Amino acid sequence: MYVYLDDRLVPADDAKVSVFDHGFLYGDGVYETMRAYSGVVLMLDEHIKRLFRSASMIGLDIKKDAGTVKTAIYKTLDTNLLKNAYIRLTVSRGYGSIGLDPELCKEATFVIFANEFRAYPEEYYEKGIKLIIAETRRNLKEALNPQIKSLNFLNNILAKIEAKGKGAYEALMLNSKGNLTEGTISNLFFVSNNTLCTPSIDCGILDGITRNVVISLAKKKGIAVKEDKFGKEDLYNASGVFITNSTMEIMPVCQVDEVEYTVGNITKLLHTAYKANVREYIKN
Ligand code: PLP
Repeated sequence: MYVYLDDRLVPADDAKVSVFDHGFLYGDGVYETMRAYSGVVLMLDEHIKRLFRSASMIGLDIKKDAGTVKTAIYKTLDTNLLKNAYIRLTVSRGYGSIGLDPELCKEATFVIFANEFRAYPEEYYEKGIKLIIAETRRNLKEALNPQIKSLNFLNNILAKIEAKGKGAYEALMLNSKGNLTEGTISNLFFVSNNTLCTPSIDCGILDGITRNVVISLAKKKGIAVKEDKFGKEDLYNASGVFITNSTMEIMPVCQVDEVEYTVGNITKLLHTAYKANVREYIKN
């Protein structure tokens, strides 16, 4: 396996970052996770746009333009002979002496690695997965805005630990006002009175790329979509629930806390539409 490190591809064993890297010391950096289908990176422009937005929100200069980043991603796929892949692109503040001042770091560290895509078990899609609503609240958007896809993941990890402790796959987090936000690595959707509901961006969530695709597919299919503030009870009373991200696509949910759900028709219809959309995307 070859890893893209700064400006070149190196064997994975040689892909080393300093212990003085501020990504390691302080979680100071940003990242993107992408999926390639048949050699095409889905929604690549949107991922790159979000990468640069995250970087700009933390005052990080990637020192590469979008075209160079794209070329680096495809070079990583090609060198590793990958067509269906999981891709992780990380940019940290870089090497610098101890201290929080970003100016201590002269150059960002830029890393891309890609692995053969490993599909989630088919059973998850057929039966759904179990979620909990965690005690851990989502970072306050006024403190660390979840729209920054940052390396600072402890908020999500604490919620994930709760999920694991309760035998659940994913944890949903509420914001400080008690409104639903998102999962640790996913956005949340549920169906209520045939309306597709999802927490709005101002609840303090990442504006997931899959989330945006799902919203526009739902609208195209004539399904009413409501982006709003919702509480726990709205979710418990839903007729169907699913979560989304770039690797899992649309993942049905069979349980949230003590409440059980079946995989609903809207979830199935949207996943079928999503897969058709992927096929269309990779053709063009
Ligand atoms: N929310 C969080 C916290 C995430 O980490 C992710 C993906 O990693 C998502 C939502 C979904 O984003 P996307 O659909 O762009 O993969």
